[in-house]
Amino acid sequence: MKSKKIWLSLARMTGHEQGFINEAFDTNWVVPLGPNVNGFEQDLELYLNENVHVVALSSGTAAIHLGLLQLGVGPGDEVICQSFTFVASANPIRYLGASPVFIDSEIETWNMSPDLLRIAIKDRIKLTGKKPKAIIPVHLYGMPARMDEIMAIANEYGIPVLEDAAEALGSEYKGRKCGTFGKFACLSFNGNKMITTSGGGALICHTEKEAETTLYYATQARDDTHYYQHSNIGYNYRMSNICAGIGRGQMIEVEQFVSRRRAIHDFYMKELSLIDGITVFDNPSSDFNSNHWLTCILIDSEVTGFTNKDLFLKMKEENIETRPLWKAMHMQPIFEDAPFYGDGTSSDLFRKGLCLPSGASLSDWDLRRVVGVIKDLARYNTPIRSLSKIEKEIGGS
Ligand SMILES: *Cc1c(COP(=O)(O)O)cnc(C)c1O
Repeated sequence: MKSKKIWLSLARMTGHEQGFINEAFDTNWVVPLGPNVNGFEQDLELYLNENVHVVALSSGTAAIHLGLLQLGVGPGDEVICQSFTFVASANPIRYLGASPVFIDSEIETWNMSPDLLRIAIKDRIKLTGKKPKAIIPVHLYGMPARMDEIMAIANEYGIPVLEDAAEALGSEYKGRKCGTFGKFACLSFNGNKMITTSGGGALICHTEKEAETTLYYATQARDDTHYYQHSNIGYNYRMSNICAGIGRGQMIEVEQFVSRRRAIHDFYMKELSLIDGITVFDNPSSDFNSNHWLTCILIDSEVTGFTNKDLFLKMKEENIETRPLWKAMHMQPIFEDAPFYGDGTSSDLFRKGLCLPSGASLSDWDLRRVVGVIKDLARYNTPIRSLSKIEKEIGGS
């Protein structure tokens, strides 16, 4: 008999969602506006705690699109984007007819390298005669990017920052929540993110005016007339009142979701740290407080005797879902022609890494099953270099 499937990042319902949905049905608010949408936005504003204005949308991708739109990104512009990310960070650049310029990661955070960012800005100005229109750093897997350095460079050149915090709800950098540093930031509530609305996202803004403009573009950009007149191209990007009801239910336990993911990461750290050749990705210093959306490991196959693909396939056999790390954008066929400033960090991570099951609904028993597979694989593959290392140590004493 096959053991129960263990999923990578399954959403967990709190039990409060149904109540908000029922309320929407009972009061006839089964539409893309209504009390749940406003309530959910307020919940997020309180949680982020930085006087931000949140607009709930149909997806995180839509949020990036409307953020870039308000930064004036259009045809002929360049937008700087972290290369090591999910494709949704970069696609909206193309929706607007602009071109992405990709920046590699630095090894400590796996996020945008401030050094490469500076080099890229200088080079783009030299080559194109104008500044890139925006910068998109990502807090990948929940790990905060080096926002102090990135914001300092962005401010020096007067280029606005749009943070991709889709994976980072609850993460903090120097005690401040991710998503509150840039001029705009996106969140995602897709099925496998920190919280879910079944599908959805939000744009974090800093002024009432920006929130109003976001809402205007998210609802087909209708002029302020009693009939339907349109002076701009708009979109149908608003979150529905039903989805927002799920979000309100989820926000009741957001702290528990974050602490459970952190506890799962701690468990993997403890259990896997003794295996030669396996490194669990962790906060580089106390400035960083990742939500550990997904716990990732790097496998040095010369030491372990097995690769990330071997482990992926073995896990699959055991009915456990794992996931390769994101394949960087500069390696993607769709972005073949985009300029890239890099030193090989993200391609190296892609070659060695794997995401482990990290969902808040996983039981301790599930986690032990995952760790058991890794330990077995490590046991049955001769760690050649480590053996010779031990021999050397013995011989040397
Ligand atoms: C999920 C995700 C998005 C997009 O969010 P959707 O709600 O799925 O559109 C954007 N960026 C990153 C890094 C993501 O992981």
